[in-house]
Amino acid sequence: MKMKTLVASLALALLATFAVQAKLNVVATLPDYGAIAEAVGGDQVKVTSLARGTEDPHFIDARPSYIRVLNQADVLLEGGAEMEVGWLPALVNNARNPKILGDAPGHVLMSQGIALIGVPPVPVDRSMGDVHPAGNPHFAHDPANGKIMATHLAEVFTKLDSANGYIYQANLKRFLDQLDQKLAEWTTAMAPLRGTKVVTYHKSYDYFASRFGLEIVGQIEPKPGIEPSPSHINALIPRVKEAGAKLVLIEPNRPRKTPQYVADAIGAKLVIVPGMVGGNEKIKDYFGLFDYDVAQIIAALKEQK
Ligand SMILES: [Zn+2]
Repeated sequence: MKMKTLVASLALALLATFAVQAKLNVVATLPDYGAIAEAVGGDQVKVTSLARGTEDPHFIDARPSYIRVLNQADVLLEGGAEMEVGWLPALVNNARNPKILGDAPGHVLMSQGIALIGVPPVPVDRSMGDVHPAGNPHFAHDPANGKIMATHLAEVFTKLDSANGYIYQANLKRFLDQLDQKLAEWTTAMAPLRGTKVVTYHKSYDYFASRFGLEIVGQIEPKPGIEPSPSHINALIPRVKEAGAKLVLIEPNRPRKTPQYVADAIGAKLVIVPGMVGGNEKIKDYFGLFDYDVAQIIAALKEQK
């Protein structure tokens, strides 16, 4: 009897181990992709996001521990469109994990199926410093693109773990339904702001602005990834003042001094608008990102008037 109990608990322990191992190990470069993977994967996946929401996604602090994380991944979610080209290739190369390389089903480009903004008509030379040579990679900051990404992930997870395909499909449906409902709410809330002129630090709000009808009239950066020179700022100020810019949008990781100087010079309000999940402690998931950003912009414009 005692032996039987022991065997039974051993079997249970083994089952538990198996259940843990059976989870798909998903590594996301950016927390937005990770948040969507959690929503679609639910309990069947373990998600690790490399970049923090407070970092610049083009220049993250690539720690050596990321190599081990990537080595053990079943799935790698990267944005593509050269978003992570400055830091990810060396890590993936060192991780030596065929599951996440090349055409392997575990190597996922989140930009797949998404119409990118700002794809240059002729290839841009990255040596000139532009970090958006393949078009604007900040596509996750449009909830409509969230639907494309979630649908793509449900396909990927189902392919890699077909036994749980019905769960991924159910999770996807719930996520899409909720996103449709929230998107309608955000659109209604932003409707009175349609046509508001804004200045942004980086070309990271183009998708958000296009979705919700804000008009971007200038950037603090002369080119994506290039810090502003005094001559650029001196040329920018009269131009965006003339255009009637009301807000200056920056991410939490940007230096405040120059954007504040521009905002003061043109009588606009500086507002911190996180571009990614985890951009502050209140933004815990993909819905939270837009809940927060929409509320921030509406509040800032009210104060500005
Ligand atoms: Zn960028």
